[in-house]
Amino acid sequence: MPAFDIIVVGSGGGLDETNLSGYLVKPSNTSWDDGIIALEAGSGHGALRHIMKRNPNIFGEQPPDEDPSKKTTPSTVYSNVKCFLLTHAHLDHISSLVISAGTFGGCSKRIYGSPQTLKDLETIFNDRVWPRLATYDETNPLFRLVYHAIHADGKYKTVFPDIAVRSMTISHGKNELGCYESSCFFVKHLPTEHEFVFFGDVEPDSIAIQPRNITVWRAAAPKIPHDLSAVFIECSYPTGRPNELLWGHLSPDHVVQEMISLATEVVLARRLPGAGDRLRPRKKQKGNPLAPEALHGALNGLRVYIMHCKENFNTERPINHVIGDQCRELLAPHNLGLELLTADQGMKIVI
Ligand SMILES: [Zn+2]
Ligand SMILES: [Zn+2]
Repeated sequence: MPAFDIIVVGSGGGLDETNLSGYLVKPSNTSWDDGIIALEAGSGHGALRHIMKRNPNIFGEQPPDEDPSKKTTPSTVYSNVKCFLLTHAHLDHISSLVISAGTFGGCSKRIYGSPQTLKDLETIFNDRVWPRLATYDETNPLFRLVYHAIHADGKYKTVFPDIAVRSMTISHGKNELGCYESSCFFVKHLPTEHEFVFFGDVEPDSIAIQPRNITVWRAAAPKIPHDLSAVFIECSYPTGRPNELLWGHLSPDHVVQEMISLATEVVLARRLPGAGDRLRPRKKQKGNPLAPEALHGALNGLRVYIMHCKENFNTERPINHVIGDQCRELLAPHNLGLELLTADQGMKIVI
């Protein structure tokens, strides 16, 4: 039984400002009118307008032309958004939230993010860069947007009816202040216990000052594929990009390494049922402890969606298809069993 419906409003990571990270999520057994989670808010109304021109019935059958007041529009869709869930506050993940903040219809909306993500947002909603349109005070009727911290404390927090989220901190490069942190979300449908993993921008464990992807894989491994059958992960750059120019992102070779890490954790979790992400020692592993054949088929039943590919306008095909093919080619010899897909703008994904 499907648990989630997801519409991809945008799946790129720049340079194309019309296609930035933005996903609309709802439980499969409810209607889009019942409420929506906006997972990231890079692209928003404008991108959705173009998607709905191409596919007017993406949110369900539109009423006949003579009844325009009942039509679904980008504004009615965003008025049904109950909360935003942000992995970090880089502009390609928040720009549509900022631009639309003064005009959202519907109920007041929570902005969920790590305390640091919310602090960063405050520097935009500061009456200088943009008006102060959000508050921490849930009771203040003057504000439609309310900051609400989601802590990386190992717990699931209910953010929406029937949906709870566990946030984990991940590394997204470094700057003068040190390691720049982003978030990875485990999004769980409580009635079915089905969940998916959604990564914010992330760098490979192999080059991070603080390798933290391994903790995500350990948390995910015991649930794959029965309770967890989809992972959304970035692959910003194509093959051949030198490590020193990744700026806190992944390329196909690193996606493959991360999938091998995940497959390894899945095999270990199956050998040691109940160990989960807590009981096994967290020593940094030197190389892969398992023979390559032991990983064959370990990720059967898992769909991995590649996203956040950085458009360079130099390829004939969309850059995410080019990068998707590169990932598939590099993954093939490992026989891990996963299905690698690309998240395309305008796509409806059922999980
Ligand atoms: Zn980004
Ligand atoms: Zn980023």
